[in-house]
Amino acid sequence: NRFSSRWKSRGKHIFTRSSTQRCSVGECFVCNTGCFDRNRFSNSDLPHILEKVIKKFPKGYCVKNPIDFVIKLIKTVPRTVFLVYNRHMKRNFETVNRIVIKIGTSSLVMPNGKINLEKIDQLAFVISSLMNKGKDVILVSSGAMGFGLNVLNMDKRPTEIARQQAVSSVGQVAMMSLYSQIFSHYQTEVSQLLITRDVIEYPESLENFTNAFEMLLTMGIVPIVNENDAISVDEMDHTTKFGDNDRLSAIVAKVTKADLLIMLSDIDGLYDKNPNIYDDAKLREHVTEITDEIIKSAGGAGSKFGTGGMLSKIKSAQMIFDNNSQMILMNGTNPRDILKVLEGANIGTWFSQVN
Ligand code: ADP
Repeated sequence: NRFSSRWKSRGKHIFTRSSTQRCSVGECFVCNTGCFDRNRFSNSDLPHILEKVIKKFPKGYCVKNPIDFVIKLIKTVPRTVFLVYNRHMKRNFETVNRIVIKIGTSSLVMPNGKINLEKIDQLAFVISSLMNKGKDVILVSSGAMGFGLNVLNMDKRPTEIARQQAVSSVGQVAMMSLYSQIFSHYQTEVSQLLITRDVIEYPESLENFTNAFEMLLTMGIVPIVNENDAISVDEMDHTTKFGDNDRLSAIVAKVTKADLLIMLSDIDGLYDKNPNIYDDAKLREHVTEITDEIIKSAGGAGSKFGTGGMLSKIKSAQMIFDNNSQMILMNGTNPRDILKVLEGANIGTWFSQVN
């Protein structure tokens, strides 16, 4: 049980708190006043008792008013330890060490086709600050096509595939050159990793790829990852495309065993319906599982430059869940908000399972 070891180490602490306080772990409400008989049990009994409680309530309870809930329980079952963890857990990223940040083209390139320098600067500041605090940060950045169109003064994406690849390869250089310049302002070195799907599929190349990440992070360098657009193909018998960078970022989070994936988008998070169509759409603060309802709510295509759309973000969240990790989907307008999010602020949608 995911909780048992945590409880064991925190048992004493939890049981010194009063029933009206929220436990410091932030994931549970614990009551001892009036229900835990201190004369009969010593603190060393607590892990055992807690394990029993966890078995009894394996899924926990989602209660709107935990205090009322506990009072009701005390009345019906006296002298019992109650442990109720709140399905809507408080965010706590203190133990998060390795973070993958994904930024999409729509965050880097403005609607007029120009590069959003302010955003790239904020992003470089945030990532450099996190690296200085000892965190490992990997950036998955789209934008090669957007930068290429900008450099070559083209106002729309070419239709011919070879031309798209040419524009992307020009744009990739421009984008990395800008990243390198802006990150160097914060004394941070960056590196470029361009990949195709076959890299992930062949064990030898996957091992090389993983080793490269580990070494770069050990050296304090930020790996900037993108799909190798210039050579990836999507043909009947040979597919080396990831499809989109939402998926790529979830794969990178998986292979690098990241503790958190942060997806920066053009929207505040996942809503119960498309907010660009429905005025009354509500932001979901916490998603614990990908239900059919959630999949249905993420309809429609993405932005002008982006290729992902909300559905691909949901699919990535499912991959993140499959790997027992977590994800934040948030607006990329102010990348500085990432620092607030890591301090637990309720920004964007948090995808995290409840065991
Ligand atoms: P980006 O390129 O910034 O990554 P996308 O265009 O791929 O973003 O996806 C975000 C878009 O998804 C939103 O601008 C919105 O139009 C659309 N969308 C569809 N359904 C939803 C939903 N339920 N919640 C939020 N956005 C949604």
